[in-house]
Amino acid sequence: MIISKDHELLVQTVREFSQKEIAPEAASRDESESFDRSLFPKMGSMGLLGITVDEAFGGSQMDAVAATLVMEEIGAVCASTALSYLAHSILAAHNLHINGSEAQKKKYLPKLCSGEWIGGMAMSEPEAGSDALGMATKAEKKGDRYILNGTKMWITNGPVGEFFLVYAKTGPKKRDISTFLIEKSFKGFSVGKKLHKLGMRASPTSELIFENCEVPVENLVGAEGESVSHMMRNLNIERVTIAGISNGCARAAHEYSTKYATERKQFGQALGHFQMIQKMIADNYTQYRASRALTLECAQYIDSGQDLGRNASACKLFAAEMATQVGLNAIQILGGYGYTKEYPVERFMRDAKLMEIGAGTNEVMRLVIARELLKEIDGQNAW
Ligand SMILES: Cc1cc2nc3c(=O)[nH]c(=O)nc-3n(C[C@H](O)[C@H](O)[C@H](O)COP(=O)(O)OP(=O)(O)OC[C@H]3O[C@@H](n4cnc5c(N)ncnc54)[C@H](O)[C@@H]3O)c2cc1C
Repeated sequence: MIISKDHELLVQTVREFSQKEIAPEAASRDESESFDRSLFPKMGSMGLLGITVDEAFGGSQMDAVAATLVMEEIGAVCASTALSYLAHSILAAHNLHINGSEAQKKKYLPKLCSGEWIGGMAMSEPEAGSDALGMATKAEKKGDRYILNGTKMWITNGPVGEFFLVYAKTGPKKRDISTFLIEKSFKGFSVGKKLHKLGMRASPTSELIFENCEVPVENLVGAEGESVSHMMRNLNIERVTIAGISNGCARAAHEYSTKYATERKQFGQALGHFQMIQKMIADNYTQYRASRALTLECAQYIDSGQDLGRNASACKLFAAEMATQVGLNAIQILGGYGYTKEYPVERFMRDAKLMEIGAGTNEVMRLVIARELLKEIDGQNAW
């Protein structure tokens, strides 16, 4: 897809920023599992944190294509930062912007768009991952408050966030799910243990714990029990933009390993002269280009209102598997050096693997795609 001049300018600006501000410490943040909070106000001042949010609330009022391109640029230098950025700008800010009331948007979006507050979204639970609607966290209305009880799991930005968009059950049926806006300071809210991960190590992940957590009724988003549709719609833009991070990891691994193949000599010639190395270089490039084209096409679908689950799932699935494979090929091209932490390709591969799990696993993506296609032919209820 040929992107617009505005999108090109955005890519150029974010690429320069990422190289200068995010890339230099990416490896050491990964090693020490540390999150660099100072990057957020910087991204805020560039208008990246509320990329899809109206200017009236401090955002940049851009589209899903723009958000996806930014994910790729940040993902190409530090996928951890890109993942935390995604949880903040898409899962929290974008979701609130689409579904929140004017008062809720006025209260929270300016803080999120500036980077004064860091946000996240909590859907998954210890016993409810792929089966997200099987969540057990409950909210009961008592006077002018809802009382939340339960535990959320795997929450990106959990240890560092001030604001979370949290899903909870408000009735006995599976689809009786409501959304609540939670501030870190609310009574009964606490952050559980930080999780130690294979990749995305500089993006902090933790449990969130609700023990009789008191939430003012005005922090309910939309109508009680009607969040399933916006939860699903938000998953679409999450899946397309996270595919942007996969594309960034793949591009970085491909570019690094191709350059290496021109420098490293064996048997008296550069590795790039060997046809089996050429095959990996050619495959990496082709797979990355195909993935980027599909991802941007699906982002365009979102922008034009043709927001189908199967499209978002297809690009997320393709990009995630592609990026892990490109990362593995890049390690192979570097040989033993690729297997060490002295070179960045192993980090790209470890980070890329997360995209095969987070925002819905590869298996769940295949289920969504197949079920939607089968339903179209054979009726809504059969699948
Ligand atoms: C680093 C990280 C960050 C995350 N950030 C967030 C966040 O910010 N907010 C949030 O809410 N969640 C977040 N998640 C959670 C993520 O979305 C879940 O991990 C994911 O949905 C899978 O759930 P699970 O881990 O419980 O795996 P399970 O659902 O237990 O799945 C285990 C395996 O079984 C397979 N499986 C399950 N059901 C089926 C089926 N019907 N058919 C075939 N195979 C099946 C899965 O594909 C997988 O291979 C994050 C996860 C990670 C690892």
